[in-house]
Amino acid sequence: MFLLWSYILYLILATIGATYGLHRYWAHRKGERRVWFEWLSLTCALLIGVYRPIAWVGIHRLHHRHSDTPKDPHSPTYQGFWNVFLSRWKGHIPYRLVRDCVKNNRMKFFQRYGKYLIWPIVILSPLTVLFGYIGIGVLNTAGHSDGPSNHWWINLFAPFEGNHKDHHEGL
Ligand SMILES: [Zn+2]
Ligand SMILES: [Zn+2]
Repeated sequence: MFLLWSYILYLILATIGATYGLHRYWAHRKGERRVWFEWLSLTCALLIGVYRPIAWVGIHRLHHRHSDTPKDPHSPTYQGFWNVFLSRWKGHIPYRLVRDCVKNNRMKFFQRYGKYLIWPIVILSPLTVLFGYIGIGVLNTAGHSDGPSNHWWINLFAPFEGNHKDHHEGL
C-alpha cells in the first residue's frame, strides 16, 4: 500500500515537476511566466531527485539540438544504454543554451542549494527520488530506442511523456 501511494505521489510530482515544469515550461519555454509555478515546479522536481535544474534544462536542449548524433547526451546508441539510463553524462553544457535560466532567481536558488536540499528528501521520501531516477532513465532510453520513439508504457514511468517521437517532431 505504501508503495502504491508513493507511486501515485510520484506521478503527481513528476507531472508538475518534470513533464510540465522542467520539460515544457523551463526547457521549451511553454506557458505564461509565473513565479508561483516556478517555485512549485522546481520543488516538485527536487522531490523526484532533480537537484541541478539548470543542468537538466541545458542537457535537454543539447539533446534536442543534436538528437541521435554523437553530440547527443541522451543517445543510447552513442553514449551507451547504461550511461543514458543512469544519467551519467558529464559533458559541458554551453552557457548560451541556458542564458535564460541563469538569470532566473528560482533556477539559481535550486541549482545552488539543490545538492544540500536533496539529502533530507532522500531520507524522508526515498521512493519518489528512486522512481524519478528510473522514470528519467526509462524515458531517455526507451524514448530513443530507434531514434525518437512513441511507447504508451513510458507514461507509467514518465507521465505524459510517452509520445516522445511526436514531441521531437513538434506535434
Ligand atoms: Zn523536449
Ligand atoms: Zn528526445
